Amino acid sequence: MKELNAELEDKRKAADDKNKAKSEFLANMSHEIRTPMNGVIGMTSLLQKTDLTEEQKDYVDTIRVSGETLLSLINDILDFSKIESGKMELEYEPFSVSKVIEETFDLLSVKAYEKGLELLYYIDPGVPAEIIGDVTRFRQVLVNLVSNGLKFTEEGEVLITAAVAERTDDRFKLEFKVKDTGIGIAESKYHKLFESFSQVDSSTTRKYGGTGLGLAICQRIIKLMGGSITVESREGEGTCFSFVIEADASTTAKKYQRADMPGIEILKGRHVAIVDDNSTNLRILQQHFRLWGMTSDTFTVQEEAVNALEMGVYDLAVLDMVMPGRNGIELGTIIKSRRPDIPLMLFSSALHFTYEEKAEAAAIFVTILNKPFRQDYVLQNLLRVFAGKITGTSGEGKATPELETGNNSPVILVAEDDLINQKLISKALEKLGYRYELVDNGVKAVEMQKANEYSLVFMDVMMPQMDGIEATGMIRKDDTSRKQPVIVALTANALAGDKERFLAAGMDDFISKPYKIDDIKNVIEKWLKIPAPNEI
Ligand code: ADP
Repeated sequence: MKELNAELEDKRKAADDKNKAKSEFLANMSHEIRTPMNGVIGMTSLLQKTDLTEEQKDYVDTIRVSGETLLSLINDILDFSKIESGKMELEYEPFSVSKVIEETFDLLSVKAYEKGLELLYYIDPGVPAEIIGDVTRFRQVLVNLVSNGLKFTEEGEVLITAAVAERTDDRFKLEFKVKDTGIGIAESKYHKLFESFSQVDSSTTRKYGGTGLGLAICQRIIKLMGGSITVESREGEGTCFSFVIEADASTTAKKYQRADMPGIEILKGRHVAIVDDNSTNLRILQQHFRLWGMTSDTFTVQEEAVNALEMGVYDLAVLDMVMPGRNGIELGTIIKSRRPDIPLMLFSSALHFTYEEKAEAAAIFVTILNKPFRQDYVLQNLLRVFAGKITGTSGEGKATPELETGNNSPVILVAEDDLINQKLISKALEKLGYRYELVDNGVKAVEMQKANEYSLVFMDVMMPQMDGIEATGMIRKDDTSRKQPVIVALTANALAGDKERFLAAGMDDFISKPYKIDDIKNVIEKWLKIPAPNEI
């Protein structure tokens, strides 16, 4: 018996090793595929900025969309195999829960707009404003769940809620829900959901596409975050994915949901009428107004709202733009004609407006708030309406020129050995209007840096003769009083621990391939604090 057990144990280990090797192979493969994808996606983004006929534009757009789809597929496979081979490590940094939700919505707002769906969220006041965890992976989970929600919903909304499930001092178990009003999932299919490469039925694949990896990845990331994910759904009525994660509250941040914003007293006791056909939206707005010390009445029927506003004592009316019957501007016009004293606010997507409508709306409304709903943004606008001034917005984050841009010498050095990538980054820098010089190995990079003192070096990691890591080390070791450049790694590596390796080597930042012109632009503006000479 003992012998048999030992033999079984050996066999199990061999099978585990084999599985791990397979996952590692997959990870390496996907990684190799990303490098040529850099050429495809990068060149396409350059091509898009050239003069093209309508027909050519259409072709290029198809290449771009296909390229991006292929890339997200490769990313899924890479993620999945990284998790399976135990190579996914989480980072721990403070991040804001509401901001991640808002970023997720920003990413998906065009899709939501195209389908006429609302993106909504509500965070319970007890949830810490900032928690410590891996913001990228957390966002990935939300993006996955929300885009599934959008994909499988034809009418209604996708709602994210966050609440505290358990708390011991600064350690929290937080429960998130992503709820849609879509086609739903039959209970008999639940067990299949989190399996890799599985979809609930093959007709779904034909209609909606997808790899069946999204939920499997979410489940594994959530497990790494100390939690689990469950599903509840009714066919035809919608689906709700709930997951719990464990996280510490960030002690450096403002502790909890901000009901303590300076100047907020001005909102206390204000009475608001909210008009929208979406009842979830009404509820969320009402909850927020309450959080800020205001009271509100909600209306789904426009006539009732008009009557109540005419008779009642409201300090403000908030209208949604897209409603059955009259839209927000039309309704606003009626209210304005009867009660010109009540300030009106409009909730809308920027995409809803023609130029003329925008002018029309500006004449009626004190503010037009862009969807998706953002807590801080709405709060600031409320304060502005009641205080008559904007607090703490605009002007922030504007770059102050620190560098002499007047002189003609190049400020950027590019060290890159791959011909296509050389061409790509040169073209990008030319389009942006930066002067730069190019070398194809680490040795030359070190020499050129010594002679010319560039402000920023783009450093490919894998190069012949001397790689980017070693070259960075040499540049950093140069202890003469020479000015040190900002060094940005260009890498196709996206494995856990790589970022730390680059930073430890003395690099300041990295861009992973495939990159787009905007990535190059953003990183230069971030570090050199000078706007690109050419707007593209
Ligand atoms: P895919 O990349 O194919 O969407 P997922 O793992 O994300 O893979 O989802 C697997 C399957 O689960 C989907 O093909 C779909 O059938 C079902 N599903 C996921 N989310 C929803 C949802 N919100 N509503 C209805 N069905 C869903």
